[in-house]
Amino acid sequence: MKLSPDHLAPPSHPVARLPEEWVAKAKEWGEPGYRGEQIFDWIHRQGILDPAEMSNVPKALRARLEDEGLGWPIDVVSRHTSDDGTEKLLVGMPDGERVETVLIPQLDDPSIVTQCISSQVGCAMGCVFCASGVAGLKRQMSDAEIVAQVLLGRRELGEGRRVRNVVFMGMGEPLHNYDAVARALVLLTHPGGLDLSKRRVTVSTSGLVKQIDRLGKDFDGQVQLAISLHAVRDEDRSAIMPINRKHDLAELTNALRRYPMSKRQRITIEYTLIRGVNDSPRDAKGMVELLEGIPVKVNLIPMNPISASSLRAPDTSHVTRFQDELTRRGLSVFIRKTRGDDVAAACGQLAFHGESRRSKQPVN
Ligand code: SAH
Ligand code: SF4
Repeated sequence: MKLSPDHLAPPSHPVARLPEEWVAKAKEWGEPGYRGEQIFDWIHRQGILDPAEMSNVPKALRARLEDEGLGWPIDVVSRHTSDDGTEKLLVGMPDGERVETVLIPQLDDPSIVTQCISSQVGCAMGCVFCASGVAGLKRQMSDAEIVAQVLLGRRELGEGRRVRNVVFMGMGEPLHNYDAVARALVLLTHPGGLDLSKRRVTVSTSGLVKQIDRLGKDFDGQVQLAISLHAVRDEDRSAIMPINRKHDLAELTNALRRYPMSKRQRITIEYTLIRGVNDSPRDAKGMVELLEGIPVKVNLIPMNPISASSLRAPDTSHVTRFQDELTRRGLSVFIRKTRGDDVAAACGQLAFHGESRRSKQPVN
């Protein structure tokens, strides 16, 4: 099933309208329907959100768009560039809340960029190793705020560089904000707009089982799914990820077995390695048994330090040994290189307000 406006929650802001909703709006205003398509094109294909700049739109209609409040729902407060080329944008919202989004250039071709976006201000899931979780949930982000991060990212990159992949791995649990995220996914992948490939948009979740099922159904399994596993026995996982007390590993792995996928697709398993917590040979063996029969690729992320916790990553040699244990047993395993940690932009380090203790001078 392709999600149509009828299956989505209504848009929260003009920026989150789909072409057919713009067409309906144009007609409601007594304008021809194609004006609606033009407006969608300005916003999502050209990245122009200010009605004054929509040169082929008649003046009266531009005035109406202005009255309606069309414009950027978020803006860049500051921009921090890491030594490795990763850029962190601190994003401000109208009520003064802030989130972060990170632009990560591909190592072998920096013109191709992966953007990591946020879906909530804070997060309710409370994972003990994560700065977003420690802070709790402040509020949901709207559909427009979510999608505008990518419009902003593209604007900040300028000519010659483009966002090709989007990962919901910033602040927040995307499946805990399902309606806004679903609309954002439709907008990000819309052929008349940013036109990202669904396979290149990854939703990462700590394991909200019902919403994993829903995502699979709503998008025919075409959106790339990443699961934050982090432990392979219930008692261990519940100790670091409270969500596991609600949906245990059996429930979670059953949901993964049901997730509709094409033959060549694989679910990404994220595993943050924490010294003395989940990094033993027994854990490696347990992971292989747990994931038996599920098409996966495993990303090992040596834990990035956060100030609220004394948990730390194992030594590099230990990380490699853990990878070898898994590979030997037939899993395909990658060690995710930490990017942007000098500007506190690495996984799990995104927190409220972003004015990180370790950040460098803002660029603007
Ligand atoms: N809420 C979602 C997506 C955001 S986090 C989720 O949990 O999946 C993106 C990834 O970074 C997740 O796999 C998360 O578990 C991991 N992560 C969180 N804190 C981390 C830390 N301190 N070091 C390394 N990875 C971390
Ligand atoms: Fe939330 Fe994900 Fe952090 Fe857990 S790891 S607290 S789900 S953002």
